[in-house]
Amino acid sequence: MYNNFDVVVIGSGPAGYVSAIRAAQLGMKVACIEKWRSSNGVSVHGGTCLNVGCIPSKALLDSSHKYSDALNKLDSHGITLGAVKMDIAAMMGRKDKIVSQLTGGIGQLFKANNVTGLYGTAKLLSNKEVEFASHQGDESIIKASHIILAAGSVPIEIPAAPTDGDFIVDSTGALEFSSVPKRLGIVGAGVIGLELGSVWSRLGSEVVLIEALDEFLAVMDKDIAKESFKIFSGQGLDIRLGARVIETAVKAKKVNVTYQTMDEKQHKEVFDKLIVCVGRRPFIDNLLSPDCGISLDQRGNIVVNEQCETNIEGVYAVGDLVRGPMLAHKGSEEGVMVAERIAGHSAQLNYDVVPNVIYTHPEVASVGQTEAQVKASGRNYNVGVFPFAASGRALAADDSQGMVKMIACEKTDRILGCHIVGPSAADLVQQVAIAMEFGSSAEDLGMTVFGHPTLSEVVHEAALAVNGNAIHKVNRKRK
Ligand code: FAD
Ligand code: NAD
Repeated sequence: MYNNFDVVVIGSGPAGYVSAIRAAQLGMKVACIEKWRSSNGVSVHGGTCLNVGCIPSKALLDSSHKYSDALNKLDSHGITLGAVKMDIAAMMGRKDKIVSQLTGGIGQLFKANNVTGLYGTAKLLSNKEVEFASHQGDESIIKASHIILAAGSVPIEIPAAPTDGDFIVDSTGALEFSSVPKRLGIVGAGVIGLELGSVWSRLGSEVVLIEALDEFLAVMDKDIAKESFKIFSGQGLDIRLGARVIETAVKAKKVNVTYQTMDEKQHKEVFDKLIVCVGRRPFIDNLLSPDCGISLDQRGNIVVNEQCETNIEGVYAVGDLVRGPMLAHKGSEEGVMVAERIAGHSAQLNYDVVPNVIYTHPEVASVGQTEAQVKASGRNYNVGVFPFAASGRALAADDSQGMVKMIACEKTDRILGCHIVGPSAADLVQQVAIAMEFGSSAEDLGMTVFGHPTLSEVVHEAALAVNGNAIHKVNRKRK
């Protein structure tokens, strides 16, 4: 039924749709197959990121942040409001509108770039063939010279807390609550737990996060994790570390949770809702026919080389399906790299400089290596730290919690990592990512002119502090 294509992409999340567009821009005949149907049965592009991930979560984070500011922050600016109310249905309606605007936008981009968008389920067969079952019920085999697998990821389920779509939910369910739960339990104090916990806490929920590890944000730089823990606890998030959920039961419209702490003691809590967000796994269910020959690792990731090619020549995998952080921008850049390599270009992705952000307020953001990673590498290094409390712009905005920490090689002064908790940390860390991409030293950033008064001056001062030259704080004496 379908003609052959140069490239068939399976999945139209940020990894898949970006690779499809880039391949088409480079002159290839491309099809992109997507099986997602929204809750009202409509076929949509955009994957996790646009439908139930990055975008809707940020819409709710922004709405709840404005509400929280109106309730708690504006009086310090001399602004008095009448009764501040939150209309949850209106907030959800705004979020849904943004999602449909963006998912619809992909269809338009496909059209403009001559990408054939197909709605239905795809399975990789052998010999670079794809079995396609359309949502209308037709079945066909599509042949392609190159195949890009971009099927993404789904939430990990745990037997101790099976989701029921009502009282015990995953991240998708937590984006759909129709009212504010009075007591909200969250299993996993990772990225999703902190972002969605912040949303509902700002709207009035009493939020308890139950985290199995005894270290908060274990993958982050330790100083930033420590400062973040202090800030989030101060906001009312009750974060319990070293606590593993062992049993849940829904009784009389309440979720009864039993968890065990490191001392083997058992504790009980009762919540109105429970969100389970303990990580995500590659979505390979029914994606690969038994004889397609694709290798998987122990975690279920599709095994790829640095250029995202699988063990089968001409078959690639990108985004959450493969090793590395599960981040939209990482997947998109892999998609671009693969499309360009198929077109004969020598594209590469610098995995050492992928920014990572938690969109709490303040945000937590990082790029490059943590101090522990640099130390473990055996390299000598210098660290520069600067607090937002010493920034005129942060004080003027009444938003001065947090700090910037920059790490540079002692010998070359090259920036190895930057870690921030503070206002606009996501955008600030991006400045350092650009500098790192150009091989910048801390001194290069220190010699750069930063506008005044801006939050980015905190990055400037941290860069100066690396070599003991910060102006607006007392530098630690060096040997
Ligand atoms: P996905 O976005 O999961 O897309 C894969 C697509 O493939 C899906 O549409 C799926 O239906 C389709 N598919 C799967 N199997 C088949 C098949 N057999 N046939 C046809 N189609 C198929 N990342 C960030 O960088 N920033 C954020 O702020 C952020 N926030 C997030 C918030 C939440 C609540 C969640 C859950 C995730 C968030 N992420 C964020 C992670 C981000 O969403 C993922 O890293 C990203 O979506 C991965 O892109 P992908 O294209 O690999 O996969
Ligand atoms: P995560 O890996 O960030 O956090 C999961 C947490 O759950 C971990 O701290 C883990 O120790 C804990 N945990 C695991 N099993 C547990 C158990 N049985 N009991 C208690 N705690 C347990 O995963 P996530 O928050 O589910 O997010 C999934 C992925 O989505 C992340 O890897 C992230 O890359 C991506 N994401 C990114 C963003 C962003 O970029 N801002 C936002 C949301 C999600």
